Parts: sequence; structure tokens; C-alpha cells
Amino acid sequence: MIEQLFGARMSPLKIGDFDVHRVIETEGPFAPVSMLLPGVDMARIEAQAHWLRPQFVSADNLAVMSFHSHVLRTGRHNVLIDACVGNDKERPLRASWHRQQFGYMHALAQAGLQPQDIDFVCCTHLHADHVGWNTQLRDGHWVPTFPKARYVFGKTEYTHWEAAHRQAVAEGAAVPNHGSFADSVLPVMDAGQAELVNEDFEFEEGVALQHAPGHTPGTCCLHVHSRGQHGIFSGDILHTPVQLVDTRLNSRFCHDPAQAVATRQRLVETVADTSTLLMTGHFPHSTGGRVVSTDSGLAWLGVS
Ligand SMILES: [Zn+2]
Repeated sequence: MIEQLFGARMSPLKIGDFDVHRVIETEGPFAPVSMLLPGVDMARIEAQAHWLRPQFVSADNLAVMSFHSHVLRTGRHNVLIDACVGNDKERPLRASWHRQQFGYMHALAQAGLQPQDIDFVCCTHLHADHVGWNTQLRDGHWVPTFPKARYVFGKTEYTHWEAAHRQAVAEGAAVPNHGSFADSVLPVMDAGQAELVNEDFEFEEGVALQHAPGHTPGTCCLHVHSRGQHGIFSGDILHTPVQLVDTRLNSRFCHDPAQAVATRQRLVETVADTSTLLMTGHFPHSTGGRVVSTDSGLAWLGVS
């Protein structure tokens, strides 16, 4: 089984007639696993070290993570899913995101795409590391990076963060998400390129959102079906393959802990030991992958 899946590696990743590219902003050791996943039992990681180390947990116990977009090419539309951290953003509380000059546009070009080729931008949720490339700095102003794209925001997610942002501004408090609502979401609204949609929005036949709350109130998955094959773009329902060792483990960034666990466990049950491909927001090294059962529990099998 495993050999067959590795043997099926291809680039771009295929889901039926659809192509999926991964556009990487950064990839590498990010943060201590114990910081990312409060309450993690390191003994359980050791028990799964044969597949977790070093590719997903470094020797010094950092979670290896990728910050990337996926681009789904259906033949009718190019859909960019999640927009990473972005360049020039003021993120003084997170040095690795602050005033960066990432080579993301070069990575997009390597996938054969220019900004004007993107028809839709779909943010699974509105955390700062999923909206950054929504905008870029031009002459001191934040403008949409993708000039022809319709930016699709789920109504529940948008409404939640708009309220949180406006309340913080009114109270003179620190704005949420490092200020990304102001520099990476509102300018898209102001430019008239945003579309607030219900959580079952369909981009085209076989490409639709599904509400999957917990990590944030309005997190959505993007489900794609083509020629009997199924893929799910799942954002941050899972941050790291370590959560397959214990699906009850939330990240420190999860909004509703109980709901996040329920959504994660439902997702894992849906895909485990099926042919469904999962494309997550932060798993490194491969465009997507599958969740498989092994003698010692669930594991992640990357598929590029
Ligand atoms: Zn994220």
C-alpha cells in the first residue's frame, strides 16, 4: 500500500482532472511542539518517532511547518487557497513575519502562474498567516495582489473578525491577528473584490466550501471532486501530523477547544484509509497526503 502510494508521486498533484500546486512561502522548524500543542505528551511522539522524526519534529523538538498556498487548477478556474504571511506586513510581535521579503511570487511563477491568472482567492480562515498575500504594498497603500480575483470570505468568519477588530480599535486595545484584518482583508473589501459567502459556497461544480468551525468560528474546508476522486483543503484543522498521534490535541491558536476536537476527529474519520487527498495549511514536504492506519496507529503519508 505505502509503496504504491509513493510510486504514485506526481507533480502537480492530481485530483481527477484537477491539478494542485503548492506555493511555498517558508518551510522549516517553526516552534516548540509543546508550545504549538499545549499538553502534548512527548512520550507519544517518541513512540511514533519512526515516521515523525526528523521530518515533522526536529531533534530539538520543534514542529517542522510549511507556510504555503495551494492553487487548484480546474481548467475553468484557478483558485488560490490561503495566502500565507505576505511581504512588508507590520508584525512586530512575530519576528519571523515582520516586514518580510519572501520569494512567494517567484514560487507562484514556478507553478506557471502570475497574479492576474488567479480567479478566486479562498481563505479557509482569517488568521494572519492565511491572508497575507491577499494584499501587497504599492506606493504606501495595501492593494489586492491578485487583480482579477474574487476573494471569497465566509460570512461567519468575516463577521467574527470584523467585530473583534472594530471592538479593539474602539477600545484602543491590541487588534487581533497582528492587525491582519486591517492590512490584508479590509483593503480587499474597499477595492470591491471581496465576496462574503455562505459556508456552502460552490465555486463551480465539484468545488465547494463546507463549514468546519472550531479552529476559528468560520473555518471552512474546500472540498473538490473530479472523476470520482476527492480532495479536501482543510486549513488549520490539523496543524501538524503530530495531531494524528492524538486527535484531541488542539493548537494554542484554536478558538473553541471542544468544537476544534470534534471537527478534527470528524475530518480524520472521513479521510483515514480512503483515497481522499488532504491538503493542509502547514504540513511540510508534500503538496498533500493521506491518513493511513498502521500497526501503531494513524500516520501521514505525503503525496506530491
Ligand atoms: Zn495557519
